[in-house]
Amino acid sequence: MLTNNNEDTDSQKRGQHNKESLVAGVVAGFIPSTRSKEVNKQREGGFLPSSVLLPLPSIRGNKIEGRYELTIKVPRKQVLGKRERTMKPIYLDYNATTPHDPEVIAAMRPFLEEHFGNPSSAHWYGIRTKNAVENARRQIALLLNSEPSEIVFTSGGTESNNYAITGVAFTHQNMGNHIITTQIEHPAVIEVCTFLEQHGFEVSYLPVDEFGIVSLSDVERAITSQTILISIMHANNEVGSIQPIGEISELARERGIVMHTDAAQSVGKIPTQVNSLGVHLLSIAGHKLYAPKGIGALYIRQETELTKLIHGAGHEQGKRAGTENILGIVGLGKACEIARRDLEKNIAHMRTMRDELHNGLRERTEDAKLNGHPEKRLPNTLSLSFQGLDANRLLSEIKEHVAASSGAACHSEGDEISPVLKAMNIPIQWVRGTLRFSTGRMTTQDEIESTVNVISNAVIKVRKEA
Ligand code: PLP
Repeated sequence: MLTNNNEDTDSQKRGQHNKESLVAGVVAGFIPSTRSKEVNKQREGGFLPSSVLLPLPSIRGNKIEGRYELTIKVPRKQVLGKRERTMKPIYLDYNATTPHDPEVIAAMRPFLEEHFGNPSSAHWYGIRTKNAVENARRQIALLLNSEPSEIVFTSGGTESNNYAITGVAFTHQNMGNHIITTQIEHPAVIEVCTFLEQHGFEVSYLPVDEFGIVSLSDVERAITSQTILISIMHANNEVGSIQPIGEISELARERGIVMHTDAAQSVGKIPTQVNSLGVHLLSIAGHKLYAPKGIGALYIRQETELTKLIHGAGHEQGKRAGTENILGIVGLGKACEIARRDLEKNIAHMRTMRDELHNGLRERTEDAKLNGHPEKRLPNTLSLSFQGLDANRLLSEIKEHVAASSGAACHSEGDEISPVLKAMNIPIQWVRGTLRFSTGRMTTQDEIESTVNVISNAVIKVRKEA
């Protein structure tokens, strides 16, 4: 069968699968009409096969013309050998997004199946969902050590950042027009600042050191009489470096400047309490902590004035219009309760998994350079650069076995050089060969062992090609 070697992960390609199993049957000597029980069993179990490409001559008449590829689908467990896995690649991209925690799903289910009321309605149905929203607000406040009234639900990290930054800018534009941020923020901050620059604001994008950490003296030097806002992320999504938010907030507070932190990556991975961080505003993204996508929250310290981002009816204490995303809100509340309850245990687990991966890869590959601070770093994040290699080539080599990302995460479609690694002054030949692994609650030792094998083999193979 002439082939392309696309991933065959979705059920829309069932017809294609059937054809391939038929070919596999023929090649393996099975009788196609009865089809191998084994092949069917694998399919029923959702088992996704891997490809083996064989160069075959094409025979037309008596002539051999060119070379073509035949795809035979073989079970991945045969490819992996020791470790018998079924189906999906090992997921090591928890900084991009997390699966739903089963407890989160259980908490949400009644609001999918039963409780549909509009929380603004005064009747029985509305009261059910209104109570659920307020319960979730309390769960988030407990995690952040804030008042429930200081939590506003949003559609995610991006909206929270937009609301915080434009909200302060437009509220305080008569007092000044200067904003301080860093070069390593997520686009959900950088792009808001760029937008504001087009509307008369000035933004200082501070550099970071080789570990991806901003210096306090740089922040202090950047402050002017016009500075109205400092927005610096708590932990970086690519390399995991943790910024000294508590100290920066102190500088801001002494000068009457509003302090915002994007905590999308830190909530649930390290302690994130608003009083020790000293911030006025803090952004949360549900899908980074085992809640659904499309839900988030913004912590707004009491008496912090913020021009609204979304106008409409008086939901969320008049701070964010729109009928509440009850399912998401309930999920986020539960996720925060779990994050608080299991924080220590989760940190220890994520760190152990990450460090075993790092140690395994260090032993088995040459020159794997760690990006980010050795200690002041998220416990789950491992950004490694392989000198002279192409990360996308590596990813294509491992994609059937391991899901990781090259440099940037949820926005890494192109071949763009990561601005974070650039800001850290990582030489280009290392930047190009950067893979980011991020472990999570569900990561297992078995998965880490397999990943070490898969990655080290891929590195050896790609290095030979280079
Ligand atoms: N901030 C950081 C640090 C992130 O990593 C992300 C997502 O990757 C976001 C903000 C955006 O959050 P959301 O996807 O919920 O809009």
